[in-house]
Amino acid sequence: MLEEISSYIEERFGISVKESLLCAHSAGGWNQFSREGGFNAEGAYLVRSREAHVNSDSEFALIDTFHEYFGHGLYTEHSVYGRKLYSLEQKLMKEEKEAGISSKQELEAFRENSGTCKQIRDFQEKTLVSYEGFAMWMEWYLSMLTGNTGIYEKKASLRSGNAKALTSSFIEFSKQNTDYALLYANGFPKHYNIGILGEIARNIFRNDLSSIDFALVYGSRKPCSDIDLFIVSDKIPCFFTGWLDVYSVSREKFSELLAKQDISITDALCSGELVYGDSAFFQTARNNAIESAITKEAVEFHLNHSIKAGELSLKCENPDEKRSSARFSVSYRLNAIEMEQGRKPLTLKELEKKYPGEFKAFEKPYIE
Ligand SMILES: [Zn+2]
Repeated sequence: MLEEISSYIEERFGISVKESLLCAHSAGGWNQFSREGGFNAEGAYLVRSREAHVNSDSEFALIDTFHEYFGHGLYTEHSVYGRKLYSLEQKLMKEEKEAGISSKQELEAFRENSGTCKQIRDFQEKTLVSYEGFAMWMEWYLSMLTGNTGIYEKKASLRSGNAKALTSSFIEFSKQNTDYALLYANGFPKHYNIGILGEIARNIFRNDLSSIDFALVYGSRKPCSDIDLFIVSDKIPCFFTGWLDVYSVSREKFSELLAKQDISITDALCSGELVYGDSAFFQTARNNAIESAITKEAVEFHLNHSIKAGELSLKCENPDEKRSSARFSVSYRLNAIEMEQGRKPLTLKELEKKYPGEFKAFEKPYIE
């Protein structure tokens, strides 16, 4: 059964448990293991060694395996937060080895003063809701998938109020936004296609679906980057959630900006793919962006916008916003220069290809 679940998860989410070990104990073995480790739970996951421990004699053994092995295992191996925790644990392990510690007291004293250990504690505290909530959700998700609802309910009813609330907030999130969105929001790589994005869009915008003329995915589309959606809608606002970046304009604003050949609009139209909505409307707009003649107003609009974005960038205090405004300023200025010479790059990628030096300063630093 575990193999079938692994294939299902791999096919649906593009990830699998590869490094984690499942350690099944007999009741006696579990008692000893949990006493020595100081756990009083039914199962345990050790991040440092990537081991999922369960009591195979417990009536909840299967559900605990869902939680420890698939929940914490996938999280530690694939989520950016879990991976960071694992790499910090490896760093601490190396430091402990180098310190030549020989007793439990020495180890405790070492950890008391270790900067890495403090970093781990702080990071654990910050990510605990995500780490534990995801495993609780996975326990529920796989129990439903495999038809183990009865035993799941029995175990869930034994939980504390806090644990129940955490579990239901994760379940509710996945019901509202899809299971894919739940993974993406918890730092997992985004292995999606147009079908998955359509499902996400239909769920997230369910109340305003009829307001959407069309929705496109554009931008880098890398599993580690956020998902960029461009939407024409009179109701949906622009927003950013950490994994989803929505750039939305009203129908009126859209035709106004399209007439000015705004690079943000032509970029989405010419590099994007339709996720949801009116394909004919989208195609007509894209053709318009490609075929329309360059006007003096369009050049002036880009120059003015470049100046405004530049001024904004000087005022910004948040480094991400500062960088993004400065980048806008450069894109609009270069697009104006190109248009003045009778050329239409249409996409940011084209501009970057032509002026690599101008964009070098905006490359995002690598985030671990
Ligand atoms: Zn757990």
